[in-house]
Amino acid sequence: MSITVKNISKSFGNTKALNNVSFTINKGEIVGFLGPNGAGKSTMMKVLTTYHQADSGEAYVNSYDVTKDKKNVQKSIGYLAEHNPLYLDMYVKEYLNFNAEVYKVNKENIAKVIEQTGLGPESPKKIGQLSKGYRQRVGLAAALLHDPEVLILDEPTTGLDPNQLLEIRKLILEIGKEKTILLSTHIMKEVEAVCDRVLIIDKGCLVADKRLSDLRKEEEQVLLVEFDFRVEEAFLKK
Ligand code: ADP
Ligand code: MG
Repeated sequence: MSITVKNISKSFGNTKALNNVSFTINKGEIVGFLGPNGAGKSTMMKVLTTYHQADSGEAYVNSYDVTKDKKNVQKSIGYLAEHNPLYLDMYVKEYLNFNAEVYKVNKENIAKVIEQTGLGPESPKKIGQLSKGYRQRVGLAAALLHDPEVLILDEPTTGLDPNQLLEIRKLILEIGKEKTILLSTHIMKEVEAVCDRVLIIDKGCLVADKRLSDLRKEEEQVLLVEFDFRVEEAFLKK
């Protein structure tokens, strides 16, 4: 099992961001993490990356306990944050080189991740000169530097225009051939295009854990419409 989450709860003051959440993710799966703003997606991801400590429950990444074995958990995970801070004045290679030093990664991996994320022709540029889509590729490249088994991608396509969005999706599918991925998004269409399975979270509670083939059922469609993803979907159809 690549990720195991058992009865995780996490509050911020009076806000119950996660309420007794449990799920597992198998090695090699691409799992969508769907839910409206404030549902708890980022908080769950940050518990897995060891950034947040849960109030109760257990979580494991590659069988490493997120509270007791943080180093090995961090080695197992490549993380792209929702608001990924990039240094716009840095050159792409310089940024990746800097990350490789911070994380004590073999420098040879830099060329590999540039290739893997299709950054090649843009890599001589400064990050600030790149489109949003290419900036996300830089974030993905940095997340891949230490060749982690698991990728945790927090809304990697939010804010991208439709073309960039489709390109990043394609890239995630490509990367997903070799990795286990947990991908949060607001967009049901994205889950359909990329994922094997979907976890739906609302107000801190996991409300569905379904294979995509089972999601076509009418009851689930009703559930999804309740979340009102229609705006994004209309935008995508344009
Ligand atoms: P999502 O990623 O699904 O939009 P989040 O996990 O960011 O949701 O947030 C879940 C809830 O927890 C929200 O009500 C949010 O305001 C709250 N929250 C998240 N992080 C913090 C924090 N660091 N301090 C206080 N409240 C937080
Ligand atoms: Mg979030």
